[in-house]
Amino acid sequence: MVGFGFDVHRLAANERLVLGGVEIQSDVGTVAHSDGDVVLHALVDALLGSLALGDIGEHFPDSDPSWKGASSTVFVEHALNMVTNQGFRVVNVDATIVLEQPKLAPYKNQMRKHIAAICSLPVKRVSIKATTSEHLGFVGRGEGVQAWVICEVQPQ
Ligand code: MG
Repeated sequence: MVGFGFDVHRLAANERLVLGGVEIQSDVGTVAHSDGDVVLHALVDALLGSLALGDIGEHFPDSDPSWKGASSTVFVEHALNMVTNQGFRVVNVDATIVLEQPKLAPYKNQMRKHIAAICSLPVKRVSIKATTSEHLGFVGRGEGVQAWVICEVQPQ
């Protein structure tokens, strides 16, 4: 089974930028209720989507104060538990991040290791790709960051 997830967050000054569980040195960060990690949010939706288990907004509503400033790793762990409870396990993760700046090349391996550790996967089964938007659209203007993630789950 394959799951797909997408997320976007607005960028602003004086906010943290956390992507794939890794703190990124940046002049701008994501405006969000949680830590605003678009990569992990898209991963949660991919995991949930693989088995039609709903979406991140249903399981972690913005209106719930317990998720204020929450580490998105907690959301991924919850989604993984749901997958496990259905008798499945994740076998790979493939993510694309779209961000104009800063360049993410120095951080990609750290993100792979972080996601591999949460998902109990070998690092070679976690792909992180980064691209810009060629100065086009809201990402190109530096107003936001996007992530797209697919994963495969198999029966345990
Ligand atoms: Mg989000």
